[in-house]
Amino acid sequence: MSTTNPSPTPPPRGEGLQTNPTLAPPSFLGKGAGGLGSSVRPNVLAMKGYAPGEQLNDPEIIKLNTNENPYPPSPRVFEAIQATLTSNKLRKYPEPLGDTFRRAAGKVLGVDPDCILIGNGSDDILTILTRTFVPEGGLIASPTPSYILYKSLAEIQGARFQTVPFDENWHLPQPWPIKGANLTFIPNPNSPSGTMVPKVLMELVRAQVAPYPLVIDEAYIDFADDRASWVQTVKHCDNLIVTRTLSKSYSLAGIRFGFAIASPDIIRELTKVKDSYNCDVLSLAAATAAIEDQEYFAGVRAKIIATRERMRPALTELGFDVTPSHANFLWCRRSDRPLKPIYEELKRRKILVRYMNYDGYDGLRISVGSDAEIDKLLAELKSL
Ligand code: PMP
Repeated sequence: MSTTNPSPTPPPRGEGLQTNPTLAPPSFLGKGAGGLGSSVRPNVLAMKGYAPGEQLNDPEIIKLNTNENPYPPSPRVFEAIQATLTSNKLRKYPEPLGDTFRRAAGKVLGVDPDCILIGNGSDDILTILTRTFVPEGGLIASPTPSYILYKSLAEIQGARFQTVPFDENWHLPQPWPIKGANLTFIPNPNSPSGTMVPKVLMELVRAQVAPYPLVIDEAYIDFADDRASWVQTVKHCDNLIVTRTLSKSYSLAGIRFGFAIASPDIIRELTKVKDSYNCDVLSLAAATAAIEDQEYFAGVRAKIIATRERMRPALTELGFDVTPSHANFLWCRRSDRPLKPIYEELKRRKILVRYMNYDGYDGLRISVGSDAEIDKLLAELKSL
């Protein structure tokens, strides 16, 4: 993309419309993105953009690359969507703050609904957080290897991005070395490792980054120990924000719904930044029905954890070095063979896993699928 194209010359103030009543299109239209080059913010021009996992349009493919849930959402989700479709609701704007969802989620999580902000997926929440807390030229920090979107968010904002390497146990160094970051993101469980930061260590980091906020990204927390979440701690800490998604444990990746839990003071500020209607009526209905059906949720969660626990020894048996995971995926490495050709061969055999390479440190991140999908994966790996 060129940065040297001259910017379109604006007409003298007030004269453009009078002298040219036919409203000639601006000179840069029709030239493609290159023609816009000099109008685009330099930080956006310079960035590569976040690359999401492959979404191949092949129904036969076994998809183990983006940590989707192999099971359908609760039957109540379908009923709620159907009821929304037939009740004349599409014509009207949705609840701007998602109060019905906030009441339902508040009850399940044991938090006040005023502590909840709804989002169009938790990626939307992460964007809102960045726009609220990080000035241009500011600083975002996160551990590495970790969720690569945080870097893109910093780039979009024109902020700096600094990472702190996890140690060999996937713990964080003490003291936390980055002072003054406007926002610190820590996924817990982490992606791609599926590991958790011990509570004592996380609490030290939270205290050390204060008064700036620590965001604990709990996208995968429902696959971890029951007591592992930081949601309850939000009540006692001004600088703690927890983010959640319904994409994984509630099987709603296609619906796009996430939320943040923080003090009502923080939620009030975040609300000013979000789009007024960032969640539509269908996603709100689906998310509310899903979170209300805790019995169905518990069943799906238990099945995924059971499959994960049998995957690890089976993959180890096949020569992989597999990190114990608290999430719905496993981080698999090996030193005797390169990993990219394994990913490529699996893809050729219609099994998609995620090959990730963090500056030379690479591995396969394999989502927990249904038992049948995992049996097929193991059989194919055995024959490689
Ligand atoms: N956080 C982490 C750590 C993730 O891996 C993902 C999924 N890519 C998300 C947040 C975003 O999830 P979603 O936008 O689907 O809610």
